[in-house]
Amino acid sequence: MRTVRALQKLRGVLVRPCPPPLFVRSWSMAQSQSFSSSSAEKPMPGNSMLRHLTSKIKATGPISVAEYMREVLTNPVMGYYVQNDMLGPDGDFITSPEISQIFGELLGIWCLSEWMGAGKPSRFQLVEFGPGRGSLANDILRVFSQLRGALGGAAVSVHLVEVSPKLSQVQAQCLTGDQSQVSASEDEPVYRHGTTTTGLPISWYRNLDDVPRGFSIYLAHEFFDALPIHKFQGTEKGWREVMVDIDPDEPGKLRLVIVPAPTLASTQLIQADEKRRHVEVCPEGGVIVQRLANRITEDGGAALIADYGHDGTKMDTFRGFKGHKLHDVLASPGSADLTADVDYSYLRRMAGATVACMGPVSQKDFLKNMGIDTRLQVLLRNCADPSTRAQLIQGYDMLTNPLKMGERFQFFTMLNHSRLTRPEPEQSKGGKKMAPVPKKGPAPLPVAGFSELGLS
Ligand code: SAH
Repeated sequence: MRTVRALQKLRGVLVRPCPPPLFVRSWSMAQSQSFSSSSAEKPMPGNSMLRHLTSKIKATGPISVAEYMREVLTNPVMGYYVQNDMLGPDGDFITSPEISQIFGELLGIWCLSEWMGAGKPSRFQLVEFGPGRGSLANDILRVFSQLRGALGGAAVSVHLVEVSPKLSQVQAQCLTGDQSQVSASEDEPVYRHGTTTTGLPISWYRNLDDVPRGFSIYLAHEFFDALPIHKFQGTEKGWREVMVDIDPDEPGKLRLVIVPAPTLASTQLIQADEKRRHVEVCPEGGVIVQRLANRITEDGGAALIADYGHDGTKMDTFRGFKGHKLHDVLASPGSADLTADVDYSYLRRMAGATVACMGPVSQKDFLKNMGIDTRLQVLLRNCADPSTRAQLIQGYDMLTNPLKMGERFQFFTMLNHSRLTRPEPEQSKGGKKMAPVPKKGPAPLPVAGFSELGLS
């Protein structure tokens, strides 16, 4: 019920109209689009990423799809994410936080709700992975600012894990109004820092390991899908890895090959009882989830992962996007986004038993459980302009319609076990010490978004 109260207190402020719905990276929508290039596309003249990859392959042989993806997306000099602002009308795709402010507002209430469910610790770190343009964090921080009273003087700080210096600049502009400083040395774990427009300390890091320890709510929206995957194929001789090689017929082009001998990855990453013939595994995502599980177990907190994904059922989801259209993954590398569906069954396995996992639940169910209908009504009540009203409704439809983003996008959470087994301790009058937790108390409060809140 706490999220209901929070929703009621949230003012009906419209801060930005929704952009026209563009192209999202979910799979079924992607299938209905045509490729913006075919595998027959001639490589771009002067594509330095292609030259870099072909010289690498010439030197050491075919590279894994994971290495290909890592180089193309995050190479420190020419990587796609490092060089581009790929979101929005002029970019390659659009995401939920960009579509509607309501998305971030409801996630802000989720963060508050989990902080309360953990007994309102006095220090609270909001950590976001891959914040894109900073829109999600911005909407969350507006909620924190409006519901400041509920936060009761907790020391809140904001921590962004972002590989792209270019996007960190866009985020800093959005979140601090350009009041941020870049660190003097490139080796500093904090490479940028400042104060948000709502008055909170904010820092940027390249890796989770550099983020300070302590109670944290971790958010990852359309982040895990950008992490490198290995691709495997079942053959008569056993599992073999699919790799990227130079096309012998056209040396300026790349092609996918099945390597004849097992690789370290093909021997280590496939489950013994695997039934599919084609499998994608994202070990980098697995490592991040393991580290999150350790932190949540030791320091308290929760992680919310939202992405398009499946529960260990899909086979070939590796794809590229450019200019809001599907794009051949091997054509003009570095000029297009690369992505693969998140395998939630793998993330759950990697999280292990030290944390409690819930989900995945569909975006439609999550947002409805969080009260998206109520929030939409409040904003509509406060908005007279017919075109803005139409955009608000269009954004709501895009986020929740099962044929659009409602079913394909899913939410998954990792929680400290105490969140589900212990009753919520009340803060003492002094505000610091927790009241002793009774051995047999009321049932723990439900985790917002993952169960119905009974909003009516
Ligand atoms: N969360 C945003 C942006 C999604 S795009 C949104 O939903 O709108 C992916 C984001 O992750 C970008 O900000 C990109 O620069 C960042 N990113 C990709 N790979 C990363 C990595 N390995 N480490 C840190 N950030 C990464």
